Amino acid sequence: MRRAMGAATQASRAEFLDTVMSRLKKRYREQMVTSLNHKSPFQLLVATILSAQAQDATVNRYTPRLFRDYPTIGDFADARPSEIFPYIRNIGLFRSKGRNIVKMARMLRERFHSRVPKSIDELTKLPGVGRKTANVVLSNAHGIHEGIAIDTHCITVSNRLGLVRSRDPVKIEARLMRMLPSSEWQDVSHLFIALGRDVCTARAKHCERCVLRDICPSSTVRIGVEMRI
Ligand code: SF4
Repeated sequence: MRRAMGAATQASRAEFLDTVMSRLKKRYREQMVTSLNHKSPFQLLVATILSAQAQDATVNRYTPRLFRDYPTIGDFADARPSEIFPYIRNIGLFRSKGRNIVKMARMLRERFHSRVPKSIDELTKLPGVGRKTANVVLSNAHGIHEGIAIDTHCITVSNRLGLVRSRDPVKIEARLMRMLPSSEWQDVSHLFIALGRDVCTARAKHCERCVLRDICPSSTVRIGVEMRI
């Protein structure tokens, strides 16, 4: 089955996105969960803060020792940031991340009864927590789908698929939320990240290996080339 490049714009975007989601679920089903290791909402919050501009695998390498020595919110709140630095030194931006994690733990203790809040409004009040981090924690730790976590992969993929023409994560999130039911909000984030990591990277697109190569408006695979999906 081969559709012309403009077919996505002729059909409704929601219908197109439905096809995209169904193919990505078949291809990346095992990646529809966060790859950040954690055992509690607080640990996921810390790991997500550490993952900014860093690989999840790198974060996973260093968090076990950190969480072993600082098992509770109170342990982080009582720590000086300089005590945390050695644990996360190899992750990148470790000074600002370490300071934010300690400040965040103190705020959780003082204002949220040492619990991770369950709304974007409250989560984004915490130091170092933006809308993307809040969405990751809400959906993966609390099972609450208030929005969609948009990272750089989601930005690249959404634009190449012609779903948006914007690099603004807030606008992309709002657009995807309008096109998908809330039950799909967590999945679309994981699936676009999986596609972005695998074949649709910011630096290069490997359309010949992509399960969307016959319907994507940015595909470099030529019309008439045999599809094997
Ligand atoms: S066909 Fe190419 S541009 Fe389109 S999503 Fe796949 S890898 Fe990205």
